[in-house]
Amino acid sequence: MIIGVTGGIASGKSTVALAFAALGIPWVDADDVAREVVEPGEPALAKIVARFGEQVLHSDGRLNRRALREIVFAEPAERRWLEGVTHPRIRQRLIAHLERMQAEGAPYVLLVSPLLFESGQSQLVDRCLVVDVPESLQIARTAARDEVGEVQARAIIAAQMSRSERLARADDILDNSRGEAELTAQVAELDRRYRQLKTV
Ligand code: ATP
Repeated sequence: MIIGVTGGIASGKSTVALAFAALGIPWVDADDVAREVVEPGEPALAKIVARFGEQVLHSDGRLNRRALREIVFAEPAERRWLEGVTHPRIRQRLIAHLERMQAEGAPYVLLVSPLLFESGQSQLVDRCLVVDVPESLQIARTAARDEVGEVQARAIIAAQMSRSERLARADDILDNSRGEAELTAQVAELDRRYRQLKTV
């Protein structure tokens, strides 16, 4: 069984993944895989440079994400082109990671992804767990972690899927509006249920 874990910025996805890991549950993070597929030497990076030029590279040959983001932010057609290059590769690698973790005998595994629903990665999972917090807490936790101002945090949240839409698609919801002890208790309860569930 594969559980997809998602939620808005700073909702607590990574913290939740660590709490499951403490119970012996492995996870793969779609953000890490998204970075892997554009590392130097990867065919996706070569395609990106062929299209946008060396302006999207740092001097050491790594992808300059900010430069690329600025180009595709202004040009929806270019964003779709970029997604056409990266999304299939990300998906392929996620499947490989998930299969390897399952083959190693885990009771179930996690796919942690901020864009679980938007990217179609939810098709890879059996259940979706949404980590939910009110917007005010997202802003406070983003600001505390990333030195991001309230205005910028609000803009990031506004660009993401709305809280209500995400919740409507959830099979399970973890309310992360209280402290880490409450988070750990909810993870323990979900773990107990997931171990009992058969693949749906
Ligand atoms: P992103 O989408 O930005 O990668 P995320 O959803 O993975 O973020 P985390 O990095 O797990 O979120 O958490 C965001 C911040 O909030 C971190 O600094 C984390 O320590 C803190 N945090 C998470 N859960 C709690 C909690 N229950 N109580 C207090 N702080 C928390």
